[in-house]
Amino acid sequence: MDCLDEKCYIRPMTYDYDYTIIGAGVVGLAAAAEFAPRGLTLLIEKEWKFGQGISSHNSEVVHAGIYYPPGSLKARLCVEGNRIIRELAREHGIGYAPLGKYIVATNEQETAYLTWLKGNAAQNGVTDVRWVEPDELHEQEPDVRAHSALFSPTSGIVDSHSLMSHFKTQAELAGADFAFNSRVEGINKQTSGYTLAILDSNGEKTAITARTVINCAGLYSDEIAAMAGLDVRALGLDLHWAKGYYYTVEGAKFRIRHLVYPVPDPNMKSLGVHATVDIAGGVRFGPTAFYLDRREEDYSFSDENLSAVAEAISRYLPGVAVDGLSAMMSGIRPKLSASGEPARDFYIREESDRGLPGFVNLIGIESPGLTAAPAIAKMIDQLL
Ligand SMILES: Cc1cc2nc3c(=O)[nH]c(=O)nc-3n(C[C@H](O)[C@H](O)[C@H](O)COP(=O)(O)OP(=O)(O)OC[C@H]3O[C@@H](n4cnc5c(N)ncnc54)[C@H](O)[C@@H]3O)c2cc1C
Repeated sequence: MDCLDEKCYIRPMTYDYDYTIIGAGVVGLAAAAEFAPRGLTLLIEKEWKFGQGISSHNSEVVHAGIYYPPGSLKARLCVEGNRIIRELAREHGIGYAPLGKYIVATNEQETAYLTWLKGNAAQNGVTDVRWVEPDELHEQEPDVRAHSALFSPTSGIVDSHSLMSHFKTQAELAGADFAFNSRVEGINKQTSGYTLAILDSNGEKTAITARTVINCAGLYSDEIAAMAGLDVRALGLDLHWAKGYYYTVEGAKFRIRHLVYPVPDPNMKSLGVHATVDIAGGVRFGPTAFYLDRREEDYSFSDENLSAVAEAISRYLPGVAVDGLSAMMSGIRPKLSASGEPARDFYIREESDRGLPGFVNLIGIESPGLTAAPAIAKMIDQLL
């Protein structure tokens, strides 16, 4: 029956989904777990399985929040994410190793940097970072050489696959739908909400309507923002890809029991070629960092810079030689800063004032995005 009441002229629009999330990496999965209990939620992923992008090509370090500028999203979300991940690990049996991290200076200049870093950490609320006496470092990490060192007790390693599985299960239990092998190819803003054009791996096209869209597309998040109509270049939101390699050392004559980091690159292109111990106890070094000329998601390996890598490691772990290093894996960072530019913060924003109400962009979610993911999901909730 037609309604003649004036109010009925403004009909509430119905959508296929309340929350549509693009990208099943750690950030999209954490968001799906957050939103599924509140409304119809769909997570769309172009690959056959979750976590095939940046989220499975990283160091798996749960960072404490030491390096990032006070007040930045990176600092706030890292500190909160660190707390949440350790809690989730305790409560849900997610693989987590509370190793702690030594940050080592190899000369006086780097020691001055550590002094600054300790103060920066304190401003971020990370007050448990402490100086380490030489005897302690020698006892804990006998093979590491340092002029001075800081220790961060709340840095650890998480099994990123088990963390992502946890978020996926939580989302599924709350009724979320997942569309794998499905690539978002177009986004049209409607009078209210959005229509998304999706192409699946059989070449079939579908369209779904959504009240809100959350762009968690990692390396391609700038392309998704452009599909929605934003001029990403003019807004300074186009991504630059920076690749990095990880290495193992064959027949290693040393032992590492904690995370060991050098002082970072001056413009924070990376945190330096560090040593991490994975959840199974294996030591890996990396990642290196270099900008790619072409955006190609290619994780293949080249040995070009082996001697520079060996030199970087042997500054704090003497005796690592080029012929001992072997290729392990690589990762690609989605950077908002171009080569030579200072590091930028995460871009996480609801775009109402750019004509896209209910559209949230997450762009430039590089490190510490794995650590920050659960806190990012809560922030998106606040934005919406
Ligand atoms: C070398 C390296 C080391 C790092 N080390 C650490 C670390 O130790 N600690 C830490 O906290 N962080 C670290 N990070 C950062 C962390 O890994 C990332 O911030 C995090 O994984 C980003 O997750 P994401 O979900 O945003 O992206 P992704 O995992 O890439 O997920 C995005 C997903 O979107 C999908 N997608 C893209 N376009 C479309 C489309 N059109 N349609 C459908 N699906 C689409 C992709 O297939 C992908 O699965 C590191 C990163 C790198 C590269």
